[in-house]
Amino acid sequence: MHLSFRFFPAGLLLVLAFFLVGSARPPHGETTPPSIQSPKRVTIKAFARTYGFTDIKVSDEQVRLKGRVHEIVFSKHSRRAELNGTVVWLNDAMVVEDRQWVLSQTDVQLTLKPLLVPTELLKEQGYQVVVLDAGHGGEDGGAVSPTGLLEKQVVLDITHRVRALLMAEGYTVYVTRHDDRFLELAERPRRAEKWNANVFVSIHANSGGASAMGTESFALALPGYRSTNQAAGSLIPKDSYPGNAFNQANMSLTYAIHHALVHQNQLTDRGLRRARFAVLKNAPCPAALVEVGFLSHAQEGAKLAKAETRAALALSIATGIDNYLRTVKKAVISPDTVE
Ligand SMILES: [Zn+2]
Repeated sequence: MHLSFRFFPAGLLLVLAFFLVGSARPPHGETTPPSIQSPKRVTIKAFARTYGFTDIKVSDEQVRLKGRVHEIVFSKHSRRAELNGTVVWLNDAMVVEDRQWVLSQTDVQLTLKPLLVPTELLKEQGYQVVVLDAGHGGEDGGAVSPTGLLEKQVVLDITHRVRALLMAEGYTVYVTRHDDRFLELAERPRRAEKWNANVFVSIHANSGGASAMGTESFALALPGYRSTNQAAGSLIPKDSYPGNAFNQANMSLTYAIHHALVHQNQLTDRGLRRARFAVLKNAPCPAALVEVGFLSHAQEGAKLAKAETRAALALSIATGIDNYLRTVKKAVISPDTVE
């Protein structure tokens, strides 16, 4: 199983990431009902000023902000945003208040700030120990492709490849399972805690209706907010979990991985989302869960059956983790010399 990743020399991860930052994706046609739950709002103008966006363009459907480093597009009356071509789902829709477009303070502080100025927020994090969690295993096969390929096999292979790539970059890497064995959900973050993880990444492949396809990545949902996929009008969960201690770092990490996944692979961008998955709730460090693609989709399932696809996905996940950890390292070691 350990074959093709040896062709990637050290340092290539960063170079690849550099070249892929600028590319764009077509928008995904998902809509969500407008709502603002947070009592505090921030106008788009104030947001733009704070984060160095010098150009604001309002069109029929969107508000587009451009700065020297970043470009962000908000869809009107929607939770959908796109940062540097990568979809990020907000907790609250961008709406009009007093004739101004406004965001919730929650989204500015806990969704967008960790993506725009991560070095300001990651000084307390570590940057050496990575724990990778291949979803499912043993009697729990997970999703199934139309040809009978099991999620537990696909994600174990991807996990092994990510592990090798990160070890080649000098990181200490543990995996919650090395082989095809059953592991309770609660046991996975527990192992990460035992190994003093600085990063926990759970790797999955998705299942849905016949037409569902694409990549989505998840950070732990915020207390007082619904998960991205939860229907409006449903109960709002208020509980806080151990993983909520890392709300900002969770977003920095998940975005780094999702951005690399989306821009390095020919998969639909379903966006960075929020959910209350057990492994995220109890993570002892910044954590992300990635759904690399839909195993249940005829074409995507067939792609995931190929070693070259899995190698490419693994490279993207490793690139994202590496980028996040490099950012943390800069923030910790020389916070004054980084942008
Ligand atoms: Zn899964």
